[in-house]
This record gives sequence, structure tokens and C-alpha cells, in this order.
Amino acid sequence: MKAQYHVIIVGSGVAGLSAAETLANQGLDILIIDENVHTGGQLLRKTRPTSACFPKFDPDRMKSKGFNLVRKINKIQSIDWLFQAQVLGIFKDRRLWVHIEKGEKGSAEFLEVRAEHLILATGARERYLPFKGWTLPGVMSLGSAQILMKSHGVLPARHTLIAGTSPLMMVLASEILGNQGKVTALLDENPMIKKLRFLPLISHHWPKLMEGAIYTARMALNRVPMRQSVRMIEARGRDGFESAIVAKTTPEGKVIPGTETDYLAGALTIGYGFVPNIELPVQAGCDLEYQKDRGGWMVKVDETLESSCRSVYAAGEITGIAGAKKSFIQGKLAAMTILKRLGKTTPGNRKIKFQKDIHTLVSLDRQQKAYASFLNQLCQVPSSAYAAIPDDTMICRCEEITMGTIKKSIQQGFATVGSLKKATRCGMGRCQGRICGPVIFDIITALTQKSPGHVGCSLSRVPVKTVDIKAFLTS
Ligand SMILES: Cc1cc2nc3c(=O)[nH]c(=O)nc-3n(C[C@H](O)[C@H](O)[C@H](O)COP(=O)(O)OP(=O)(O)OC[C@H]3O[C@@H](n4cnc5c(N)ncnc54)[C@H](O)[C@@H]3O)c2cc1C
Repeated sequence: MKAQYHVIIVGSGVAGLSAAETLANQGLDILIIDENVHTGGQLLRKTRPTSACFPKFDPDRMKSKGFNLVRKINKIQSIDWLFQAQVLGIFKDRRLWVHIEKGEKGSAEFLEVRAEHLILATGARERYLPFKGWTLPGVMSLGSAQILMKSHGVLPARHTLIAGTSPLMMVLASEILGNQGKVTALLDENPMIKKLRFLPLISHHWPKLMEGAIYTARMALNRVPMRQSVRMIEARGRDGFESAIVAKTTPEGKVIPGTETDYLAGALTIGYGFVPNIELPVQAGCDLEYQKDRGGWMVKVDETLESSCRSVYAAGEITGIAGAKKSFIQGKLAAMTILKRLGKTTPGNRKIKFQKDIHTLVSLDRQQKAYASFLNQLCQVPSSAYAAIPDDTMICRCEEITMGTIKKSIQQGFATVGSLKKATRCGMGRCQGRICGPVIFDIITALTQKSPGHVGCSLSRVPVKTVDIKAFLTS
């Protein structure tokens, strides 16, 4: 480990890896930091995709591309790695404060390292719509179920119910079936009419349409019941999840009373799309922007991905949710912008061609964002769904704050994310608002109809991730 690097990349998802590959072998000192135990972020875990009959339209082809990138990167000697290491804060002149879970002596360590250029590629997390019983054991997010299977080889249950609005529902169902599990049903909140409305937006992204068709065919072949326009009302069970009550919704997304049905299963997995992980850029002082059809609050970057803080770049999902392809593109683009600033080009690439390549990446990035708008709109639930959460539903799971308390505080005038947090402690628990933060934003917006700028987002402070106090005392 050095005290200073030419480039530090936070996040070894496909955005971070693709940046590292572009920067490698240029005589630069590069460090990649990730809190995870493995490379590849959310897309890649242990399980490799199986080979497909139609590789061009294979929904898993991004994963194959990712695993190829990991293979290439692993052969590069000149990159330093820090795994199981959390970046807790960014200070003046791009000095990073890092917590290493197990340092050289086997115990936690803290270190400070400085970057001349910093690429933040911290990815995204899932978005939630709370409902009664969502805290029961056996109710989990779609991503958690994926982690169980891909990293630990465990199915969520023998029979799993999948619900929500996320495109990850199909991916997860396909993975469960591939691992000899059973999918009780796939319950999509979106009405078919909403999907059809978006068709013109994605008509020229026909490989993506084919991917969707392949997934749908897989569900049909495995006789997975698929329902549309249904909302999760309640998860029931004594010590853990046993059944779910769902109800039909109108095309506007309102629940139709008297249409409730129940589903028995061993686990319920549910998700409503993604939100960018912006804690580090917020703490570093980077400007943010809000775009509903790109996942909400995200880091504001120029077209070469530099943020409002000089030499701090952002790549991948933190600049707006758009999927793996955009993360690959943006990682490379951020790296090429840095190389250009340092007066370098990629090997075998003359200056003019290099500049042309940057332009190509900028336009590919724009295309992906246009497609992403479709995906994010598909994931959105109407704000009436947030306004209609029953009063006894838990919103902040860590601090046990219910919808009733939140509503009362909003009526008392605590109608921004910051003031509501101070008034109720929501978002101040162990997860530091990573789960309830975006939910609280959506609830305030739904109940007050105020603009996103007025409602604001949670302001992260150092340490941006929870650290055991023992680690501080013993280090
Ligand atoms: C739970 C989940 C599951 C997903 N599954 C799929 C899927 O199966 N297929 C698919 O196509 N897309 C999936 N996606 C979408 C996925 O985000 C994109 O496809 C793409 O992989 C994003 O790449 P990225 O490099 O931008 O971010 P990520 O892959 O999310 O990588 C970000 C990395 O940053 C690290 N990190 C974050 N904060 C810190 C910190 N403070 N300190 C140190 N390290 C940090 C994380 O550990 C992570 O490894 C999933 C997303 C989520 C949230």
C-alpha cells in the first residue's frame, strides 16, 4: 500500500473494473477499494452464467462479459486491491478514510490514502415500498435472494413468491428455476397497458426486447403463474413468512377493495427498482441532481463524468440507474477522461482516434440513459401507493418508526427528509437510512406534493457506513 495513488477507484463493480482495465499498464499507481469479499459488484457473484443458445440475446451476456473482464484484470500486476475495506469518508484533496475489516494483524484497521484522481463507482441498492409484515423473517428483497443463491448456494425457500415492479423479478425467477427451486408466482404491479405504452421508447433496443421475450418464455415453459396489476398488501406468518395477501389495482395504481387473494409460499422476495448509492459523493460535497426516471437522487456529472468537485469522477449506477451496460461504458469513459487530462492515450491509440473514442463513449452513454428511462418508469409505483401505507406499518426498521408517527410529524411541519430525521430518528439506526431513506423521501413527496429540491435527501456524514465502536477503540 502506498500513501498516495494517481487514481483510486471506489467500487469493484463492472464500472470500477472497466475503469481499472482502461487505466492499467499506463505507468499509473492504481488502487481499487471495495467493501465486498469479491470483485464484480452486484452483477457478478460466484455463480457463472450457463452458455446460451442465442448468445446475442442472452440475458446473461453482461455477466459473461463481466467474468471475462475479471479474468483480464486478475492478470494485471500493477493494480493494488483492498477488499473488505469500506471508504468511510472523503476529505479535502481527495484524502480517503478507509476501514479495513481485517488488517495485517487480523483485527480492524483504519488508514488514510490520497488520490490525485478519484473515481466513485459505488453502484446502487434496492428501493422499497413498505407493507404490513415486510419485517417478517422470510420476506426479503430480490437482491438478497440473489445473494443467498449466487454467493452461498442457498435457495430462499423451496417455493418462493416473487413480487414488485423490478426487472430483477424475471432475473431472479430464472435463477431460482435454474437452481431447481420453484416459483409460486410472479406478481407484477405494472399493468400490461403501462408496458405497451413504453414500446416506442425501446423499439430500437430490440436485443433488450428479445431478452424480455426469452425470460417470459422461460416462465411459460416452467408454468410459473404470472399476474399483472396486483399490489402486495400484507405478509403473514407466526414466526416467519407463511402467506401473502395481494389485491388487484386499477390502471392508475389504486387498490380495488374486495379483490384480495392469498398465496402460500416459503419466502417472499420483493423489489421496486434501484436507487443510486450517493452517500460518499454527498459527504465529499459533490452536487446532486434529482431525476425520477433515472432512480431519483444521483451525482451530477458533466458528459465526461467529472463531478462538481475537481478530479472526482463518478461512473456506473451512481450517475443514474441504467444497468450493467452503462456501467461498463461509464467506467471506461471516466478512465479515458483521466488519461486525457494526464496527457496519455490508451496503448496503440493515436491522439485523434483517442478523442474520437471518447466521443463514441459519450454517445453510447446517452443511448443507454434513454433506454434506462423506460426501465425506471416501469419500476415506479404511483405516489398514491406511498400515501396509502397503513399507519401501523413499520417504515424505519432500525428505529421502529411507523407510518403513523411519520405522518403526524409531517403534519406538524417536519416535511423535509432532514427535519423528519431529527424529529423522529428515522434513518438514524444501524442501516443509516439506506433502506428507509428513499422511502421517507417518497412518503413526504406523496403527502405534501412538494418538489424534490424542497424535500431534499439524507445528508451523509463521516463515517458513511456503520462501524463497530470496538474497532475504533482497539485500532
Ligand atoms: C441487489 C442488486 C442486484 C442486482 N442484480 C443484477 C443482475 O442480476 N443482473 C443485472 O444485469 N443487473 C443487476 N443489478 C443492477 C446492477 O447494479 C448493474 O447491472 C451493474 O452491475 C452496476 O455496476 P456498478 O459497477 O455501477 O455498481 P455495483 O455493481 O453495485 O458495484 C458497486 C461496488 O461498490 C462497492 N461499494 C459501495 N460503497 C462502498 C464504500 N463506501 N466502500 C467500499 N466499497 C463500496 C460495493 O461493494 C460494490 O461492489 C443489481 C443491482 C442490485 C442493487
